[in-house]
Amino acid sequence: MVQNTSQASKRLDFVKDDIQQLKDDHLYQELVSFSGKQGTEITIDGKKVLNFSANNYLGLTDHPTIVKAAKQAIDDYGVGAGAVRTIIGTMDIHQELERRLAAYKHTEATLTLQSGFTANMAAIPPIMGEGDAIISDALNHASIIDAVRLTKGVTKKIYQHADMNDLETQLKATKSARRRLVVTDGVFSMDGDLAPLPDIVALCEQYDAVLMVDDAHASGVFGKNGRGTTDHFNLNGRVDIQVGTLSKAIGSVGGYVASTQAMRDLMINKARPLLFSTSHPPSVVMSCLAAIDLLEKDSSLIDKLWYNTRYFKAGMKNIGLPADSESPIVPVIVGESEKAQELSRRLFEEGIYVRAIVYPTVAMDKARVRVMINATHTQAQLDRAIETFQKVGKELGLI
Ligand SMILES: *Cc1c(COP(=O)(O)O)cnc(C)c1O
Repeated sequence: MVQNTSQASKRLDFVKDDIQQLKDDHLYQELVSFSGKQGTEITIDGKKVLNFSANNYLGLTDHPTIVKAAKQAIDDYGVGAGAVRTIIGTMDIHQELERRLAAYKHTEATLTLQSGFTANMAAIPPIMGEGDAIISDALNHASIIDAVRLTKGVTKKIYQHADMNDLETQLKATKSARRRLVVTDGVFSMDGDLAPLPDIVALCEQYDAVLMVDDAHASGVFGKNGRGTTDHFNLNGRVDIQVGTLSKAIGSVGGYVASTQAMRDLMINKARPLLFSTSHPPSVVMSCLAAIDLLEKDSSLIDKLWYNTRYFKAGMKNIGLPADSESPIVPVIVGESEKAQELSRRLFEEGIYVRAIVYPTVAMDKARVRVMINATHTQAQLDRAIETFQKVGKELGLI
């Protein structure tokens, strides 16, 4: 046994070389863990820091009403669904959540998946095949890119980020395709900018292409009561497929595809993450239902999120580190990976946790730290972050 293990580890020695390469390129990352709850104040390695990296936009990860719903669900239904959806893993509450999400999103139907990542895997391959074309924004999320890769016999086109002339060029170039799908993030996760949806909708209508929008960072953030970018731009009924996540603002985990009843029915038959992977545990389903209840009743957390976002950006502009984004995602772009990691490290020493984002998540020369604003940040916490950015920014020659 022992001998086998050492032989096996020897055969894996190339992994160590790969790691060394990442380290040499200043691209190596390690997991950081914190103790206690996700929140604006966390403890990492015994050090208390302010958390400016979470997608917990509305602070719902430990909202009392939602925690209570999750606990009750465990008592009522147990801890697991016990099967994939199509065998015997669909509980009444899964269907209830899907009906509620459909009403919330103003669509005919929705289908929930284990994550936003798998929602993209569920939505794209079932409808795209031989002779079809997919036209995708250059900065789309990795899960869209991977979902497109899973299709077979499809012409794959990428248009320059948010460039409507290029999108039109690609639409013209794919005229002979059987079906065409244009796919974009609603909010781009690394730059925090919005897709120009009204223009994209107009082009898709003109060229008769199906439009899919991945609203992971817009779910619970943009639109009335957090319905997303389609609602934000008053385009309800004109976006064919909307993907949302339950893992960011909604506070739990999961994703959904909001579209037509037929689209839902087809995915139930063809979407591999649904067919071959177990469905949400009941506590997750009930947490999400409680979160949707909360968002539909009360938009004060969303209002606070936007208040905090405006406050923080104004402060950063004041100190000479303006962030050019349209959302609570605030990228501070510094260029080289090494510099971004140094900035993140110094901020941490000063008590602010902001993660560096480097290649391959962003382009090689666009390394950054990415500040995530939450509704639960206090004004004092925002002030401290701005002051610390000023201090460390000067130190590193950014200001
Ligand atoms: C975060 C994100 C996802 C993945 O969502 P999860 O629920 O975390 O799997 C998918 N698409 C986009 C655009 C995202 O930002």
